[in-house]
Amino acid sequence: MKSLDIRTMMVMVSILSFLFSGLLTLASLQAGTIRGMRHWALASFFTCFALGLAITQPTAQIQSWLVVIGATLLFASGFLQFHGIKAFKGERGNWLISGVLMGVAAIINTWFVIIHPDTNARIVFNSIGYSTLNLLCARALLIRIQAPQRTAYWFTGSIFVVQSLFFAIRAIIFIFTHPGGFNLYGNFLINPATFLMSGCTQLCLTFGFILMLNYRLASDLKDLASTDALTGALNRRSLEHEAAIFESLFTRNGDSLTVVLLDIDHFKLLNDNYGHAMGDTVLKQLPMVAKTIIREYDCFARYGGEEFCILLPSTTESEALLIAERLRLAYAATFQAIDHQNIHSTISIGVADSAQVGLTFAALSKAADQAMYRAKQGGRNRVIGYSSLSNPRTKINHPPTLCDS
Ligand code: GH3
Ligand code: MG
Ligand code: MG
Repeated sequence: MKSLDIRTMMVMVSILSFLFSGLLTLASLQAGTIRGMRHWALASFFTCFALGLAITQPTAQIQSWLVVIGATLLFASGFLQFHGIKAFKGERGNWLISGVLMGVAAIINTWFVIIHPDTNARIVFNSIGYSTLNLLCARALLIRIQAPQRTAYWFTGSIFVVQSLFFAIRAIIFIFTHPGGFNLYGNFLINPATFLMSGCTQLCLTFGFILMLNYRLASDLKDLASTDALTGALNRRSLEHEAAIFESLFTRNGDSLTVVLLDIDHFKLLNDNYGHAMGDTVLKQLPMVAKTIIREYDCFARYGGEEFCILLPSTTESEALLIAERLRLAYAATFQAIDHQNIHSTISIGVADSAQVGLTFAALSKAADQAMYRAKQGGRNRVIGYSSLSNPRTKINHPPTLCDS
């Protein structure tokens, strides 16, 4: 490895970084609202410039300053990668602390290069700094991983860990060996090793960032295809997909599935009286209320228009009736304020379980719909179970009103 020409390697890594910057910039343009890519593109440009500076051969005086600027640019690149990861994950990083730390790194490099030249101390300091920064990037990536992107995060995080370990080893070597008369182009194995590793890890990191973007776009697309844009609830397609999974699972283990159908009462009247925008606001309220009442593994979906559907796995009709009643009361207690009026709305709910009509979604939703129809007929703002349809004396509550003054 000693025979590898260090200057050629620096040129190669610099050109690679430049190309990667272009690639990341293009990817960031395609990514639209996904944050982080621009940070990484800029970080790659900084690495490219830092290595570009080291290749130039100006006078000794200028050379010293270029070493300081190059080292600071590499720190800046590390901090940008760190903040890019934070931004990509929707977290906030502290730019002030990063700025102060970068200033400290610039001052220490100036000290060891210009004021009190000590190459060994500079390399130990920079190696420890880069190692810590890479470890911070790995940590930022590997904690709180969003499940669909696990593989891409682990891949990129491992590259940061490898870089961190490499710089830690580099620091240890320089602490214990004190290579006298060290210079960048000297016959010292660690230098070609550093640049060989940098070239490979730059390639892998760029690949990792693009992979993360790819996973994110795929998962965003899946979310878009499976949720309702207005309410954020699952859409009909996903509901039927989930129901089919429960059907095949419960057919084998004999568990019961319950379907709950909800319909907002007099919603057309609400739209006509207060406008479509208010109607939309009222519509969005229901999933929010439902979220506080149903379990995490229950499925809440928009069935169509102002109708919603809940799949309650491993739940019987009598258990579901209690949940539905809690939801009805909680929703009735909410209101929207408009022109000094509080707009209340209510829901009618039908419930049916697989013990009575079987596990197919078509049969369950038809039965729940019949129960809901009975709830509407009975005066609205109530919960009716399919099993009670044979009983003509199904309880009737007070009729709902739309607003209080
Ligand atoms: P009922 O109590 O019998 O259910 O009466 P209703 O007025 O709620 O039922 P109907 O089916 O007559 O009216 C449903 C209304 O829901 C009609 C439609 O314009 C409105 N609607 C459907 N989707 C949306 C939407 O996304 N936003 C708004 N604002 N209104 C919607
Ligand atoms: Mg309806
Ligand atoms: Mg309705």
